[in-house]
Amino acid sequence: MNTGSHGAGADRVDTLDIPTTRAWIDAVARAVTAHRDELTELDAAIGDADHGANLQRGFAAVETAIGGLGYAPETVGQLLGKVGMTLISKVGGASGPLYGSAFRALGRQLTTPEADGHQLTLALQAGLDAVRALGGATTGDKTMVDALAPAVAAFGEAITAGGDLGAAAHAAVDAAEAGARATTPLQARKGRASYLGERSIGHQDPGATSTALIFAALAEVLQPHG
Ligand SMILES: [Mg+2]
Repeated sequence: MNTGSHGAGADRVDTLDIPTTRAWIDAVARAVTAHRDELTELDAAIGDADHGANLQRGFAAVETAIGGLGYAPETVGQLLGKVGMTLISKVGGASGPLYGSAFRALGRQLTTPEADGHQLTLALQAGLDAVRALGGATTGDKTMVDALAPAVAAFGEAITAGGDLGAAAHAAVDAAEAGARATTPLQARKGRASYLGERSIGHQDPGATSTALIFAALAEVLQPHG
């Protein structure tokens, strides 16, 4: 429906540029700091209580790596690749290599200064593939895949249906949060939590929880600016 010469189309956000990508990573860094204790408590229940601290330290290192005046990436992918390399080198445990590999996979796909919804859908799928390949987890294993897989699917479905990046990111957040909540009754089959067997049941997975935070940060920066 046409709402005028500056109608709905003017409020769409159809590309992710380098400044908005930087804003996304800044928002992730703020979110993992704000939710550090929550992530730590979730990891204390079924892991080794370091997920909040690991992610906070990792994204602080990322902010240092991409925040310097001399750092001027020419594509969205260069920036996200730098994020991934920094996470791999600075974050211990499983989450550093997993998130680092995901961001590196996004980076390899996004070889232009701006990425559209179709490119981002393919990149997110590559990120999911990287996490699955490295961690060996599938949906239902009580890992970050339980949030990431439905989020990637929801993002792609929203783009296919004609939604803009903001709508797609919001759909991804809803799917990621639902996926994270759905890990609570599951018994862990991958990662440190799997050592607990049935005692892992009844706790939300910290990795799935932080995955939802990363999509929420993306949705936050893709609000229309009209
Ligand atoms: Mg841990």
